[in-house]
Amino acid sequence: MTNMASSIPIPFALGQPLWWVGNGYQEEWVVCPECCGTKVITMVQGNGTAVSLNCAACAVGFMPPTGRVKRVFYRHEPTPFVPRRVEIYGQEIR
Ligand SMILES: [Zn+2]
Repeated sequence: MTNMASSIPIPFALGQPLWWVGNGYQEEWVVCPECCGTKVITMVQGNGTAVSLNCAACAVGFMPPTGRVKRVFYRHEPTPFVPRRVEIYGQEIR
């Protein structure tokens, strides 16, 4: 049996003010890009007959279309924080 004692250098001091990019996850509802908010898609068949169908891009499940879709985007901003502890999880150091 071996002694597994070891040390890992931490590139900052606990309590030292640092910066990180932030989570940045944000959601917003935007006008549906497929139906432009009209809730219907119009198709023209080869004989010129126009057929309108409910838009599938802005319908969730069996609910009718809403004309809006959720868009997920990331906006990272430098965010100050002060580390209070170090967490080691598997091979990841957080
Ligand atoms: Zn739509």
